[in-house]
Amino acid sequence: MPIDPKLPYDDNNIFAKILRGEIPSKKVYEDDGIYAFHDINPQAPVHVLVIPKGRYVSWMDFTEKASDGEIAQFIRGVGKVAAMMGLTDDGYRLLANIGQHGHQEVPHLHVHIFGGRQLGAMLP
Ligand code: 5GP
Repeated sequence: MPIDPKLPYDDNNIFAKILRGEIPSKKVYEDDGIYAFHDINPQAPVHVLVIPKGRYVSWMDFTEKASDGEIAQFIRGVGKVAAMMGLTDDGYRLLANIGQHGHQEVPHLHVHIFGGRQLGAMLP
């Protein structure tokens, strides 16, 4: 079920638990502001999720409330993780599902990185 992005941040969401180490995850990269890990149900040879460590429900929440520094660290971090995964030569896809119409399922902002094969055309 897609989330309601207007609800307040839920500290018991699955990615909050992953950040606290209460649920295992396969870490790809971590710094003081972001955490990146393999998706549990990969849709491509590389399917990594990048999340900010701050308590942001969605992209809307993040872009409204996060500092410029946090936003820059997150966006640079996504690029860094893609490079670490060896995706920069052939390219890759970024995706953020946002709220109900975007079919976001986990209420902690995340960007998907897909790559490692030729991807199809993006259709809604
Ligand atoms: P959304 O639809 O919210 O953009 O995507 C949520 C993503 O989180 C899905 O691709 C799903 O496979 C992934 N996911 C859900 N639960 C877990 C989990 O416990 N561990 C990991 N690594 N990924 C998860």
